[in-house]
Amino acid sequence: MIRPVPTVAAMASYALADLGDPAAVSLAQNESAFAPSPRALAAAVADQALYPDPDWRDLRAAIAETHPVDPDGLLCGAGSMELIGCLIRAFAGPGDEVLGSQYGYLFVATAAQQAGARYVQTPEPRLRVEVDALLGAVTPRTRIVFVCNPGNPTGTRLPNAELLRLRAALPPDVLLVVDQAYAEFDDQDHAPVFALVTQGRTVVTRTLSKAYGLAGARAGWAACPPTIAAEIRKLLNPNNIPTLSQAMGAAALRDQDHMRAIVAKTAARRHALCDRLRAIGLEVPDSATNFLLIRWPDTPAAARADAALQEQGLILRGMRGYGLPDCLRATIGPEDAMARVAATLEQLS
Ligand SMILES: *Cc1c(COP(=O)(O)O)cnc(C)c1O
Repeated sequence: MIRPVPTVAAMASYALADLGDPAAVSLAQNESAFAPSPRALAAAVADQALYPDPDWRDLRAAIAETHPVDPDGLLCGAGSMELIGCLIRAFAGPGDEVLGSQYGYLFVATAAQQAGARYVQTPEPRLRVEVDALLGAVTPRTRIVFVCNPGNPTGTRLPNAELLRLRAALPPDVLLVVDQAYAEFDDQDHAPVFALVTQGRTVVTRTLSKAYGLAGARAGWAACPPTIAAEIRKLLNPNNIPTLSQAMGAAALRDQDHMRAIVAKTAARRHALCDRLRAIGLEVPDSATNFLLIRWPDTPAAARADAALQEQGLILRGMRGYGLPDCLRATIGPEDAMARVAATLEQLS
């Protein structure tokens, strides 16, 4: 019999959202409700016969024009998922521990398994990352600590001062990774977090999939200390981001006004939905993202709500995989879909 390696045989596949009927409205994957910048859509690429720029030069330039980062430490990936996977494989292997928080990004668990490392999680009793719990779980085997801020699926955010406190208290040989996939929706000044990168032990990841409305283009980036970038780079696929996606990404980054408009419109819809859900007694943590986590008093109530929403062709993300079976996660989507989500849940209450 042909056998895979034991770590792969023992793995489950990554649990993507079940999008059901293609005619349904997907509110399950936190994609933007708004189109990307018209400048991104107009990004013309003359020559598709050539391989893409393996150094993502124009994309990196656009990132450095708009963020306080050193272009030499920038890596670009086919989505930040590619970067997260390669980063874990570069810095953790069998016998090592990757530390994350209870409701941290599930893909980190998959990527740690792919690397043969152990994924350890600390509790989030208040649905937000607890820095002291992470610090208390560090062992001599800990290689990487992952914090998703703002968090997915909780939507909650940690003040940046807490991240600085975490970094200062972690052992110097532990790599801190801050996944900032939703940072554009969080109005904190992110410069202090980028400043950690220059100290040599922290990586910050970002994506164009959410606030820039380019999930289909597959483009993400990581601000790394240059020596760390060099190691991760060995594991990336060469020519990993298509020429067109690089051009679209650079154009979208250079249209910060459009991104800010997406963020503002998303926040207005999010506040409106949040108010209606809280008014019927549902628990909804404050969100600094483009989604809301909605909690029912018990799992059967959440299942009834999910069934009623699906009946209306509205697909939210079930949270069993995260250990929150009494919750659903709703991406902030089209205005009419938001109104239908609220009305459906009001009828059930
Ligand atoms: C959406 C998301 C990403 C981004 O993934 P891409 O591969 O860049 O599309 C990363 N981390 C978290 C927590 C996310 O929710």
